[in-house]
Amino acid sequence: MENTGGKRIPIIGGGPAGLMAAEVLSRNGHAVTVYEAMPTVARKFLLAGKSGLNITHSEDFSRFSTRYGAANDWLRTSLDAFTPDDVRAWATGLGTETFVGSSGRVFPTTMKASPLLRAWVARLREQGVEILTRHRWTGFDGDALLIETPDGTKTIEADAVLLALGGASWPRLGSDAAWLPWLRDRGVEIADFAPANCGFDVAWSEHFRERNAGAPVKSVTASVTGNDALPGEFVISRHGIEGSLVYAHAGTLREHLSETRKAALLLDLMPGRSLERLTNDLSRQDRKASFSNRMRKGAGIDGVKTALLRELSAPDVLNDPQKLAARIKALPIPLVAPRPIAEAISSAGGIRHDAVDDNFMLRRLPGLFVAGEMLDWEAPTGGYLLTACFATGQAAALGMQAWLAQ
Ligand SMILES: Cc1cc2nc3c(=O)[nH]c(=O)nc-3n(C[C@H](O)[C@H](O)[C@H](O)COP(=O)(O)OP(=O)(O)OC[C@H]3O[C@@H](n4cnc5c(N)ncnc54)[C@H](O)[C@@H]3O)c2cc1C
Repeated sequence: MENTGGKRIPIIGGGPAGLMAAEVLSRNGHAVTVYEAMPTVARKFLLAGKSGLNITHSEDFSRFSTRYGAANDWLRTSLDAFTPDDVRAWATGLGTETFVGSSGRVFPTTMKASPLLRAWVARLREQGVEILTRHRWTGFDGDALLIETPDGTKTIEADAVLLALGGASWPRLGSDAAWLPWLRDRGVEIADFAPANCGFDVAWSEHFRERNAGAPVKSVTASVTGNDALPGEFVISRHGIEGSLVYAHAGTLREHLSETRKAALLLDLMPGRSLERLTNDLSRQDRKASFSNRMRKGAGIDGVKTALLRELSAPDVLNDPQKLAARIKALPIPLVAPRPIAEAISSAGGIRHDAVDDNFMLRRLPGLFVAGEMLDWEAPTGGYLLTACFATGQAAALGMQAWLAQ
C-alpha cells in the first residue's frame, strides 16, 4: 500500500457524501477506492448545478441546524464539525468563490457545479483516490460485497466499507435505492422512501390546464395550517403545482395526504392587502363589469391569479365582494397526491437513526458505514441537503477511522 500506514478503504457511491468521505480518508493517509455505478461521478450534484447550485445557506447556524426536523439532534454533531462556513471555505479551497443571494442562500459565483466538481476530482486523484466508474454494488456474498464491473463480477472484502448510495429521487442519475432490500434482509431498519421537495397533483379542469400550465404564481404566501405562511412563488404545471414555495411545505402536505388522504395548500393571493381593504375595494366595483375587470380594478389581481380564483371557487363566491375578498386571502388548492419520487428533488426515508451508532456505522453490520441522503433525514431546499451530505460524509469517514483505530 503506497499511502502512509493507512488502510485500503472502499467507498461505494461517488456523490457528494461519498466523495467527501474519500477526501477525508485519503487526506488522513488511507488508500481509498470509490466504486461508482454510473459512467461518471456525482451526476445529481451536476444536475443541481444546472438550476444554480445552492451549496449551503448563510442564516444563523442556530437556525440552520434546526432545518432537519426530527433528525436535528442526530445530524447536529456532524453539522457542528462541517458548518455552512466550512462548506464555503472548502469550495474556496477548490478555486470556487461563493456569494450570498438575496434569500440568504449561498451559490458559487459560477452558479454551476461542474468547475467545482472538476477541481474536486482532480484533488482527490492527487491525494491518491482511485475512482472506478461503471462499478456497481449488487449485493452481498457472505460478508463480501459483490461489484459488477465491465470485466465481470468482483468481490470486495475489507475491514471497513463506506456506503454513500444516495436516496431514491431521480433514479436515472444513479441513486436508485436498489440496495434497500439487501440491507433490510440483514436486519437494518430502513424507513420507506417518499418524495421530498416535490410537486403535487391537482385535479385541474382541462380548460384551466390548457390555459395556465407553465404560468408562475408570484408574490403570494402559502401555508398548510394557516400559521406557517411563507412568501414566495410557484408554478402551475400540467399535473398540478411545482416550485420552491410548494417544496417548502411538501413534507407536511405529504404527511397530511398519507394520514387523511386530504391536503391543501392555502394561498394568500394578495399578502400586501388587508381583508378589509379588499372587501371595500371590491364592493365599489360595477356589478355589471366582467369578473376580470372587477378583479383587476378592485383587487389588483389578473392573469393566473384570477384564473385560480375562478377554477377553485363556487359561482356565488365570485359574485359576493365579501366572500371573494376572503377567498383572495385564503384560497385552498386541494391536492391529490405527491408527484412521483423519480421527479422529486430529494427523498424522505432511508436508514433510521437507531440503525447506526455515533460513528455512522450500521449496528447490525459492523464495519459498514453510511452517509448522505441514504440516511433517514429530510430538509427543505436552500443548500441544507448538500451541506448535510458533506457533513455526514465527513462524519462517517472520521467515525470509520476512530473505529479502525480501536
Ligand atoms: C434537480 C435537483 C436539484 C438539486 N439542487 C440542490 C441544491 O441546489 N442544493 C442542495 O443542497 N441540494 C440539491 N439537490 C439535492 C442534492 O443533489 C442531493 O441531496 C445530493 O446529491 C445527495 O448526495 P449523496 O452523495 O447522498 O447521493 P447522490 O448524489 O445521489 O450520490 C449517490 C451515488 O451513488 C451511486 N450509486 C447508487 N447505487 C450504487 C451502487 N449500487 N453501486 C455503486 N454506486 C451506486 C449513484 O450513482 C450516485 O453517484 C438537488 C437534487 C436534484 C435532483
